[in-house]
Amino acid sequence: MKKKRVGIIGAGPSGLAQLRAFEAAKNEGLEVPEVVCFEKQSNWGGMWNYSWRTGVGKYGEPTHGSMYKYLWSNGPKECLEFSDYSFDEHFKKPISSYPPRPVLFDYIQGRIKKNNVRDYISFDTTVRWVNYNEETKKFEVVLDNLKIDKTYSEEFDYLVVASGHFSTPNMPYFKGIEQFPGQVMHAHDFRGADPYKDQDLLIIGSSYSAEDIGVQCYKHGAKSVTLSYRSNPIGVNWPDGITEVPLLKYFEGDTAYFKDGTSRRFDAVVMCTGYQHKFPFLPDELRLKTKNNLYPDHLYKGVFFNDLPNLIYLGMQDQYYTFNMFDAQAWVARDFIMNQYQLPKKAERRIDIDKWLDANEKLETSFDHVDFQTAYIKDLLALSDYPDFNVDQVAVMFKEWLKDKDENILTYRDKTFQSVVTGTKAETHHTEWMDELDDSKERYLYQEECEDGVSEAHEKERV
Ligand code: FAD
Ligand code: NAP
Repeated sequence: MKKKRVGIIGAGPSGLAQLRAFEAAKNEGLEVPEVVCFEKQSNWGGMWNYSWRTGVGKYGEPTHGSMYKYLWSNGPKECLEFSDYSFDEHFKKPISSYPPRPVLFDYIQGRIKKNNVRDYISFDTTVRWVNYNEETKKFEVVLDNLKIDKTYSEEFDYLVVASGHFSTPNMPYFKGIEQFPGQVMHAHDFRGADPYKDQDLLIIGSSYSAEDIGVQCYKHGAKSVTLSYRSNPIGVNWPDGITEVPLLKYFEGDTAYFKDGTSRRFDAVVMCTGYQHKFPFLPDELRLKTKNNLYPDHLYKGVFFNDLPNLIYLGMQDQYYTFNMFDAQAWVARDFIMNQYQLPKKAERRIDIDKWLDANEKLETSFDHVDFQTAYIKDLLALSDYPDFNVDQVAVMFKEWLKDKDENILTYRDKTFQSVVTGTKAETHHTEWMDELDDSKERYLYQEECEDGVSEAHEKERV
């Protein structure tokens, strides 16, 4: 019999989790389907594969990356640890709880480098379009090999969409903005705080990007940072130099007028106004249509497209849990594909989805959000053999993290947590986060060898 074929779109943490799930089954001696992953960038890692480019990549595709220089984990690493590949196994020594991007990128790669996962990935290959053939029950995937500029297509029995949802900016309009004389950009194009030194910066938004870009610009020498919120302020104890104001109404020249009647002059504006779930390669009837939230509609177990469960979406939720959630999802998807997990009928699936949607509607506080996603992870873990981990303890850490941020937004990254996978207590980082201006892996892991500032290897990675 011909092997079933599985196509995966994207080799970020979610797509890699899917590849890893099949490798784990293979290592147990199970017969696995033929798996092919398509990645439009030249390397894996998704968001964690830093790109200095904005706008378009080297082949003219929209740049995927939204990460920036000096980006550090915004949650404790103990909350995202793979339960089948610990930080101890990778780094061979305890490290701090909030590593910078290159260190987490290294960790993500460590697990998959142990297997031949790279062989399954077609890099520099964009998924352009997908058709589902009702008769053959197969997905026809139209692809562009960007390197040789060739369009071709392949057929799959299952399609896993792991293309991420923090890449296409949501960019609102404010009256007068077209006349604003300074730079206006979305967080997606922000590549570091350096250009904002000594500037008065206006940030629109009140979520993670607004908070982190605001704090980073403050840390790297912005003259002032003003955060303008639509619904709720972030509301932490801000240091002098960072203030929160209600929503921007309009600009006159370089002056912004806010809803509370105040106004102020600015040098630059960064829109931290979130992202759109965008799947330009999917037709209407297959496309997930949702805002960023903890339980997108139409996905059974947050994964299976209810109208056509052979279409699988990974990582489409708003995220407290990240890498371990993608794993838990990928393992369930794998078991479904390998006939080890049977889905209930469509109507029953709908009832289950509605149950989660109702619960999601009732959430009020950040702690409720953490509890909700914790319950979701537990639900997933019960469905596959992904190594169990103490999810309740992870929820406790998330709540500690929220409290730490409230207490001091500048020092929460100096705190340490204990791994639920190995029991290891994190090390305190050699330098306090506010004083640490180099985010390279070399300096992070081997401070003494990098006393001269940004290391050579780090510079290479940035190129
Ligand atoms: P992505 O990482 O976005 O990967 C999707 C992949 O799909 C990309 O490689 C992309 O090139 C590829 N792709 C897209 N379209 C196509 C196509 N048509 N054809 C082929 N390939 C395609 N999470 C944390 O846990 N901690 C953090 O500190 C943290 N910081 C973040 C900071 C920023 C600025 C952002 C935007 C996100 C951050 N996240 C953080 C969340 C982050 O999105 C997840 O950790 C993780 O990267 C999501 O993995 P993913 O594979 O679902 O998506
Ligand atoms: P987000 O969490 O979806 O938040 C979007 C924000 O934009 C909300 O505050 C929203 O306000 C606001 N907004 C949307 N439309 C608006 C409008 N028309 N006018 C004014 N405000 C508007 O997106 P995000 O903050 O970009 O975070 C995305 C992901 O990136 C998260 O997973 C986060 O963890 C990650 N991230 C991590 C780091 C890090 O430090 N490692 C840094 C940045 C981002 P309302 O509340 O009114 O809807």
